[in-house]
Amino acid sequence: MREIEVQKLTDNIRDMCIEAVHELSPDMLDVFQSACESEKSPLGKKILEQLQENLKIAKEDRIPICQDTGMAVVFLEVGQDVHFTGGNVENAVNEGVRRGYVEGYLRKSVVGDPIIRENTKDNTPAVVYYEIVPGDQVKITVAPKGFGSENMSRIFMLKPADGIDGVRQAILTAVKDAGPNACPPMVVGVGIGGTFEKCALLAKKALTRNAGERSSIPYVADLEREMLEKINKLGIGPGGLGGSTTALAVNINTYATHIAGLPVAVNICCHVNRHAVRVI
Ligand code: SF4
Repeated sequence: MREIEVQKLTDNIRDMCIEAVHELSPDMLDVFQSACESEKSPLGKKILEQLQENLKIAKEDRIPICQDTGMAVVFLEVGQDVHFTGGNVENAVNEGVRRGYVEGYLRKSVVGDPIIRENTKDNTPAVVYYEIVPGDQVKITVAPKGFGSENMSRIFMLKPADGIDGVRQAILTAVKDAGPNACPPMVVGVGIGGTFEKCALLAKKALTRNAGERSSIPYVADLEREMLEKINKLGIGPGGLGGSTTALAVNINTYATHIAGLPVAVNICCHVNRHAVRVI
């Protein structure tokens, strides 16, 4: 059994919130660069170059990449041989988010109640997901999620007979309907299988996978490549102003499901696909 002070979660999450809103991970920079090189529309290319310049300024001058610094989504993969000490884990996570957003002067975008809508003024609470895994380490992923693209996300409860063609249609429908509202070029996270809520979580987690990394399941990896090509033929383009780069990546996660169903979730992220990862 390894003991970990919850203060360690707070300190790391504070720094990760600040880091994630100022600089994208190397995988995102790589797909940006490839898109700049392959974009066919001159205007689309110009927009991609401006977005790249924005990334550079954000990193160097410590200005958030976007004014929408997101709602903090935190994944904790906790080794089963870990014993947290010194307090409540969820409070420690939220304290990290609070300190990150307050001390980092990041926009506070969270309301405490979805109907009363009073800003909590410190961007808490975070949305926290826990997974128990083998080992004695904790993998922390902090993914501040912008809501221009979150609002464009969809769930489709397909019939088993809809099959993989139904999945293709669902993904294309979600992306077409999102159009410019999702701040393209997008990263498209897809969950296939599970239950209603499980497929949404699969899609959300898919967004945290490196943009250049394909699924380890051969047919899923093929589907990711095929859907990226099809989405980029829609012509929505960077900023929604036309072009051959509507998406930078399509990441798909799958899970077992019931004989009577085929749930599909499409969680769309804008080009500011933030995910900071640390293992403690
Ligand atoms: S969806 Fe993304 S790019 Fe658009 S405003 Fe929100 S964080 Fe910024």
